Amino acid sequence: MGLLSQGSPLNWVETKKYADHVRKHGILQFLNIYNKVKDRQKDVLKWGDEVEYMLVELDEKNEKARLILNGHKVLETLQEQGENIDPNHPTLWRPEYGSYMIEGTPGQPYGGTMSEFNTVEDNMVKRRREASSVLHEHETLCTITAFPRLGCPGFTKPEFRPTPVEKGVSKSLFFPDEAINRHPRFSTLTRNIRHRRGEKVVINVPIFKDKNTASPFLETFPEDDGEAARAVIPDHIYMDAMGFGTGNCCLQVTFQACSINEARYLYDQLATFCPIVMALSAASPFYRGFVSDIDCRWGVISASVDDRTREEHGLEPLKNNKFRIHKSRYDSIDSYLCFCGEKYNDIELTKDEEIYKQLQDAGIDKLLAQHIAHLFIRDPLSLFEEKINLDDENESDHFENLQSTNWQTMRFKPPPPNSDIGWRVEFRPMEVQLTDFENSAYVVFIVLLTRVILSYKLDFLIPLSKVDENMKVAQKRNAVQEGLFYFRKDIYKGCNLLIDSASTAVQNGVESEGVHEEYTLMSIDTIINGKEGVFQGLIPILNCYLENMEVDVDTRCTILNYLKLIKKRASGELMTMARWMREFVTKHPQYKKDSVISDRINYDLICQCDRIARGQEHCPELIGDLINRGL
Ligand code: GLU
Ligand code: MG
Repeated sequence: MGLLSQGSPLNWVETKKYADHVRKHGILQFLNIYNKVKDRQKDVLKWGDEVEYMLVELDEKNEKARLILNGHKVLETLQEQGENIDPNHPTLWRPEYGSYMIEGTPGQPYGGTMSEFNTVEDNMVKRRREASSVLHEHETLCTITAFPRLGCPGFTKPEFRPTPVEKGVSKSLFFPDEAINRHPRFSTLTRNIRHRRGEKVVINVPIFKDKNTASPFLETFPEDDGEAARAVIPDHIYMDAMGFGTGNCCLQVTFQACSINEARYLYDQLATFCPIVMALSAASPFYRGFVSDIDCRWGVISASVDDRTREEHGLEPLKNNKFRIHKSRYDSIDSYLCFCGEKYNDIELTKDEEIYKQLQDAGIDKLLAQHIAHLFIRDPLSLFEEKINLDDENESDHFENLQSTNWQTMRFKPPPPNSDIGWRVEFRPMEVQLTDFENSAYVVFIVLLTRVILSYKLDFLIPLSKVDENMKVAQKRNAVQEGLFYFRKDIYKGCNLLIDSASTAVQNGVESEGVHEEYTLMSIDTIINGKEGVFQGLIPILNCYLENMEVDVDTRCTILNYLKLIKKRASGELMTMARWMREFVTKHPQYKKDSVISDRINYDLICQCDRIARGQEHCPELIGDLINRGL
């Protein structure tokens, strides 16, 4: 969730005073990095995954599953036993937004060889085992994207009541401040987002209307001071805190490219896959104890950190703010970075014109300059008193401050100053899966995809407005089966990797007329598995690539099993986690067809999830005859 500084956090009024200072020095820091490493070539392909976990207590006696708020203790123990004593320890642990969350990554990045694909799952199992070993009896580690009863009375252990008054951090009617990680970054972000916005965040998720669901479904909240009543929409599940979004778990992959140009190419290409892979990974159908009509968390997080004012939203004329801003800080990307993508940059890009000019004057090309100038329309959200004046040559905190609070589907990451790390991109849309087997499968699928994109110089670009439409479709219930997604028909019409505006400008002029014929609507099954006469399919392309690679038998077998999972999820032969959870609830004897996930249903669901994740029970509907080894 980003950079952690120590010190005294500033409130919003103070932070705002330094916004221009942070932006000014952030740009200088970026320029210093850029000038030092722009020509860096031949970094090797490295990559790593990030898995976010929830700590859960399974209280058998009371038949309740609750989130345990001791993430900081668990984290401290894991770090003490691991990285603090052994720099080569195979796992690394980091804090996350919820005080019931931790994040785990492999100790070292993976390299470029095929055999590394055979170690991903081992490492994930190691992480699960390691973290489980420091928990108490009846406590467990879950990779569940959204805890079904997050924000319901008594959902945490120990139990806390929310603080729905101005002095509270979230001021939430549902989400207690104690469920926020106690590192000041997290509460500062939460409070400053609320103060910048001028009101609580508003999240409204459509409810799934079952036979006995109230119609219209409309809740009232006795402790509300009026904010909730103004924000709530009939037939929606209303939520009012950052934790409802950032308190969810995901699965991310970061790649180091061999050069800045390759990173820009991967950034663009992978951006088109974000909605597709998100739908394939759909795992979050329940919010605040209700069955919703969406399958993915994305829009929820997007709304949960939306710090835009009414002016920025376009609800009032601009007076105190500088820009109309079309998206939340947590949203899909707004511009491609390669010149062959320029003609597809068809959504409005708000940018800070002064910064844009400054970057161009410093020799940065238009597309990179506008990307940075777009990120920098935002204000810093958390700033520490001790970290205001920095050495711009050797530090990058001000750049990172804005970079790391622009939570987009893809992140383009310049190297940190004075490090041997190269240019990187991060793939951020995936929902975390229940088992290490599934998480490994999704991660390996994405990494393999980058290999074929680079090896065959594939081109998946479509207009960004279409990627955005895909993002909307991807979150709908059962999008993986029912959704149609814009996708490029001919992916071999190569993108010119060279970032040369002069030569591609001519090409763009000629080609732009034909853009709308380059893509068509496809189902995820067609995109992944192919359909005669329409599209070859990604899995057949990956298989073809694998056939030409030297791969040992064991690794090949592992990879084939992973691809089998993706293939079957795409065809509908296997369920997504979201669909499986829905069916579990529907079939539960205590479910009253009223869209309510009671404590008992939640408990049984989480227990079942835990048994599957541990490998104690098979779940053929979810993973077929493939094997999750478990603990
Ligand atoms: N938990 C967030 C999500 O579900 C991501 C936080 C991060 O960037 O690490 O997308
Ligand atoms: Mg994280």
